[in-house]
Amino acid sequence: MTDTSVMHIGLDDTDSINGGCTTYLAAVLVEKLVQVPAVHFIDYPALIRLNPNVPWKTRGNGALCLRFQYPTHLTDDIKQLVLTFWEQHLHTNVKGTNPGIVFYQQKNIPQELTDFSRQAETCIVTLNKAVKLIRKIGAEALGYNNCRGIIGALAAIGETLTGDYTYELIAYRTATNWGTKRLVDKDSVFNMDQLLQPQVFNNIDNEKNRILITPRGFDPVLFGLRGESADVVKRAFGIVKSLEPVERWVIFRSNQGTDAHLRQVDGLNKLERYCSVILKGVVSKNPKIVPVRHVIFSIKTSFCEIDCAAYEPTGDLRKAARELVIGDSIEVMGAIHKDVKTKFLTINLEKINILSLNQNVVTQNPRCSACAKRLKSMGKQQGFRCEKCGEKFVSLTKQTTVIPRVLHTGLYVTSTRSQRHLTKPLRRLGQEKRGVPVILIDDWHSP
Ligand code: ATP
Repeated sequence: MTDTSVMHIGLDDTDSINGGCTTYLAAVLVEKLVQVPAVHFIDYPALIRLNPNVPWKTRGNGALCLRFQYPTHLTDDIKQLVLTFWEQHLHTNVKGTNPGIVFYQQKNIPQELTDFSRQAETCIVTLNKAVKLIRKIGAEALGYNNCRGIIGALAAIGETLTGDYTYELIAYRTATNWGTKRLVDKDSVFNMDQLLQPQVFNNIDNEKNRILITPRGFDPVLFGLRGESADVVKRAFGIVKSLEPVERWVIFRSNQGTDAHLRQVDGLNKLERYCSVILKGVVSKNPKIVPVRHVIFSIKTSFCEIDCAAYEPTGDLRKAARELVIGDSIEVMGAIHKDVKTKFLTINLEKINILSLNQNVVTQNPRCSACAKRLKSMGKQQGFRCEKCGEKFVSLTKQTTVIPRVLHTGLYVTSTRSQRHLTKPLRRLGQEKRGVPVILIDDWHSP
């Protein structure tokens, strides 16, 4: 019997703003690898989104991993085949493209590597750390330019998606159409969402009546369909009508829509720039609206007081933030922003979970009994005066009014169009999964 081994191949940073896409390279490699005798994929290709706040990402900070079983004697041939296509797809001449590829040939992923991936999803990791780990676990890596892509390539191998996960079917355009307007029948996308919800998510923006499946730019992606199972994204593919030829498609398993980038922090030293956090606290400063229509408020936690910002495009989240009052107990989720000059920290909000609402009590001056105009105070315990009638009311005191709250407890999430790839949308609540699928569906790629 032939000896078999398992190979994990991590890929990142092959593309540039001028075109290319690492998922496309993965799709081409799938086509080539399944033609190698006895190569058998042990999982869907993984599309792993890493820390969405890294300043040097091109778009969505995605990295890829292919995992397959193969006859051991073909190790060198397979690596050579993969490297040939990898080299062909690189945009190394473009500044900011720093490709990396990692090969790892052990069946099981060591805990240290899983931990590394978790860090790469939530924070910043260094190339030095990646290289040390590669040496320690006996993996092999190759990179170009500053080689930063090795970080993402390694992290993609270490994220085995044993926690929550989702799927995305990505369809690609023929090369002659790259750079032109993407032609997809919009109604068919709305129809698909109607038929398959809540099993599909983030494919349309109902508020703006727009489809979200087509990216912009010169890359080869025609569209991506997101859902809860390989079957459902395949069904979605059967419903969505493309008005241009599809060159190939692949189903990826992914951490998209799972909140994998968020982590609970319990100390000031954990509030690092570029990290995404979950913080529990009480509203300590009422929201104020700052140009241009952004909402800022503060919360006090057990270890700090910090500003939270809901920017204009966050839609419903911003509307909810505007209604918070001092004393509301909440959990905020978002990215830490550090002002370079002042070192002041702000959380750029993605979600607010309202745990309990405080009474909204406002204290106001009483009204004039003659003209109903709000009175002016004449000083502490000196009574009030009506500016219109000139009447004085020395015995009146301030009035307190309880304003009914329009907010409810529960989760408020940024609008679909401004959600990060990793943000878990409301539609996914209750659909979280665990574990790795043992059997792949029959047709998960073409060709
Ligand atoms: P695309 O989504 O089209 O693949 P991108 O947004 O993924 O593009 P890249 O061009 O891959 O952007 O650039 C991201 C770079 O950041 C990669 O080199 C990757 O290795 C690196 N990187 C990813 N996560 C981290 C992290 N947590 N810390 C440090 N570097 C990271």
